[in-house]
Amino acid sequence: METSLNVDEIDSIKAHGLKDLASAGSDKELDDWRVKFLGRKGLLTIALRSLVSLEPSERQKIGSLANKTKEDLLNEFQSRKSQITAVQSSDIDSSHFDVTLPGTKLSLGKLHPTTQIIREICSIFEGMGFSVVEGPEIEWDEYNFQKLNIPKNHPARDMWNTFWVAEEDSSGNQMLLRTHTSPMQARIMETNAPPVRVIVPGKCYRYEATDATHESQFYQIEGLAVDKNITFANLKGTLYQFARQLFGENRRVRFRCDYFPFVEPGVDMSIDCFACQGKAVGCRICASTGWVEIMGAGMVHPAVLESAGYDPSVYTGFAFGLGPERIGMLKYGIEDIRMFYENDCRFLEMF
Ligand SMILES: [Zn+2]
Repeated sequence: METSLNVDEIDSIKAHGLKDLASAGSDKELDDWRVKFLGRKGLLTIALRSLVSLEPSERQKIGSLANKTKEDLLNEFQSRKSQITAVQSSDIDSSHFDVTLPGTKLSLGKLHPTTQIIREICSIFEGMGFSVVEGPEIEWDEYNFQKLNIPKNHPARDMWNTFWVAEEDSSGNQMLLRTHTSPMQARIMETNAPPVRVIVPGKCYRYEATDATHESQFYQIEGLAVDKNITFANLKGTLYQFARQLFGENRRVRFRCDYFPFVEPGVDMSIDCFACQGKAVGCRICASTGWVEIMGAGMVHPAVLESAGYDPSVYTGFAFGLGPERIGMLKYGIEDIRMFYENDCRFLEMF
């Protein structure tokens, strides 16, 4: 028979067990520990089995110590197990807050560059006494063309191919996506007595192929001033002032004859190139001409005044139209108008 079980041996199993338990760090290690000490062939189980070989008096004393040890080890095992479970669940707890981690960056929204340019242009004209109004994007042929001195079948309609939204009705009216914000000229004069000074920003549409300078959808800002004694000098002075405020105090302007059916005379207005200061050498902005065209304008055609109910022998006025995207392209050196509509955040965040 082996040497008999004694107090030292049981204490040694306990000390050994507690030491191993403290270093167990995972479910697997815990399980191995349980098998080694408390399993069917575990150290303590074997010790308990050998109790039978002891003298009855010894058996009781050693037996109760062995049972107490088993109980202690089991308790320690349970508490170590819950410790490990708590550590594991805290690792994946989303509410666990680590103050040393860098914070999540919040990106601030901002206005689209087109909106910024429109607001800047509108505020310049508001400073000269113009008010801002808006109109419908789906418009009647009558307002988009006829009241602007462009009757049906007029060849000038070729300049404004558009999207028709319905067939002509029985009275010959047809709706379309407006090709310019100019229809508001007639709408404003029909509902307001002179004097009129308005600026009309809004979306327009044309049926045409897109390229770096053309889009089928774009913005336009229309301006209209009508009163007694308005002359071409007022047109020039107003637009000159506008160009200097938007592009810089030293800008020069140039007016050249142009044709639009709803004005007479009509002009295109250019400013001297702000990129090369008019030197016109190797400049991409002005194509080395020294001048950059920024808008069309003219004195309101008497037929337009008359069709809106104003007496052209008493009232005169001037009108102009410009593309804010084109102005933005010039001002910020943007080379492709399509970038305004691509929603590429890398582009939008630059403004
Ligand atoms: Zn230039």
